[in-house]
Amino acid sequence: MENQNRQTDVINRSKQNTEAGKQELYMYSLRKMAEDNVEKNKSPLTQLQNLRSFFYTGGEIIRQHPTEQYALIAMDIAQFKAVNEFCGRDAGDALLAAIAGVFRKLDTERPLTISSHARADVFALLTTYQEEQELIDIVMQIKKVIDDFPIDCKVLPAFGIATSQGEPPAISYLKDCATMALNTIKGKFYASYAFFDEKMRRQQMLEKQIENNIVTALQNGQFALYIQPKVDMATGEIVGGEALVRWVDPEHGVISPGDFLPVLEKNGFVIDLDVYMWEQVFKMQSELLSQGRRPVPVSVNVSRVHAFDKSFCDTLCRLSQRYQVDPSYVPLELTESAFLWDEQGMYRQLEILQSRGFTASMDDFGTGYSTMNMLKNQSMDEVKVDQAFIRDLETNEKSRVVIRHTIRMLQELGTDIIVEGVETEEQKKFLLECGCKAAQGYLFYKPMPWQEFVSLL
Ligand code: C2E
Ligand code: MG
Ligand code: MG
Repeated sequence: MENQNRQTDVINRSKQNTEAGKQELYMYSLRKMAEDNVEKNKSPLTQLQNLRSFFYTGGEIIRQHPTEQYALIAMDIAQFKAVNEFCGRDAGDALLAAIAGVFRKLDTERPLTISSHARADVFALLTTYQEEQELIDIVMQIKKVIDDFPIDCKVLPAFGIATSQGEPPAISYLKDCATMALNTIKGKFYASYAFFDEKMRRQQMLEKQIENNIVTALQNGQFALYIQPKVDMATGEIVGGEALVRWVDPEHGVISPGDFLPVLEKNGFVIDLDVYMWEQVFKMQSELLSQGRRPVPVSVNVSRVHAFDKSFCDTLCRLSQRYQVDPSYVPLELTESAFLWDEQGMYRQLEILQSRGFTASMDDFGTGYSTMNMLKNQSMDEVKVDQAFIRDLETNEKSRVVIRHTIRMLQELGTDIIVEGVETEEQKKFLLECGCKAAQGYLFYKPMPWQEFVSLL
């Protein structure tokens, strides 16, 4: 045990050494660049330092005054592009110059302070402080200049504030934290600043941890295929299933997709995960077929990130061929957000898939991920009404009206309907009265390991 501790110690120390070495090299290259090109490192429009030179100069300030308490304020304007487009580039530039004016003033007035014009509408300020209120006052001072600026557009700046916690901070880390805080409120008119807090720090740690573990988890088969049965509410018969991923982590147990999918969407790994899940479903269906059993369709989720991946259509067709499974056994569940990036391209891919025998289901209908507009424009084979849509039908008469007419409308449009998240007998009764038979929900079955699903069939 002790031996192991010592080994870990050595590894950690050598890690720190390489880290320190890297940091030094980085600082050296920054310094060299800053010295080489003082003018080039300034924004021509605002005469403020660019980010690299800000990192160098700020880093030097912190190095020379390590006992001070530091804060980094990052600023970004929501939809600044629109300001340029609507009010003209000259007005946009004039606004940026006015903002830069306050930053320069803060530079000269406050001790150990330096600011940067990173790009377009992104500014940053490193300063020392005593009380948090000082930082809020700075933000308000900058905001006032923006609010008072004569321009015909609504300009919404957002500020993120990160403070050093005891140790002399790494300036780039402070900048990342401030940016993260900023992103939590960007574009929200009711908040103009946010401090980087413990919750964000924990979220950041979790994301890092997931990012670090995800590749090994995929390689070690830690992602499990769960299936939730879909039933015909009139007969109770299982008419299909939905494949849902579970991460079975040896340390943390079963982790739900809501906790890790957002991270995988950010770094693109969701594509690998989806393909893995699709393959598991094709494999399962092909085993059932080879045993002479007739499987029910088991749908798979298609992340919106596939809109960026032109090969997703080929991947699905290839899987269908390799496992000799007809595509009708593996319907696709998509949300409208998949169409936001390249609507036409995505429609084309979907048409190709449909021509090959795949069916498409619009997931989470009624939640804002899927809208009426999509019903007009695209031939979806099925609409999956979200749980949020039916949650309050027992207590809310208006909700019942909306559901009744939505089902009616979908029936007229000729699409299949399934309702998700049916939890009570009342919901079941009402939906059956509306003529909707297919459902998925805890009232019938919860998601289960695929082997259990197979033995239910
Ligand atoms: P979804 O596709 O809308 O899946 C239905 C979700 O509702 C599942 O949550 C399911 O467990 C839950 N659910 C079903 N019936 C009930 C009910 O009666 N009550 C309640 N409270 N919940 C119910 P889950 O498994 O946590 O999945 C969440 C979401 O994660 C899914 O929503 C889907 O969008 C996504 N997801 C899951 N697996 C995958 C995957 O392999 N790939 C991709 N891209 N997304 C996935
Ligand atoms: Mg789904
Ligand atoms: Mg859904």
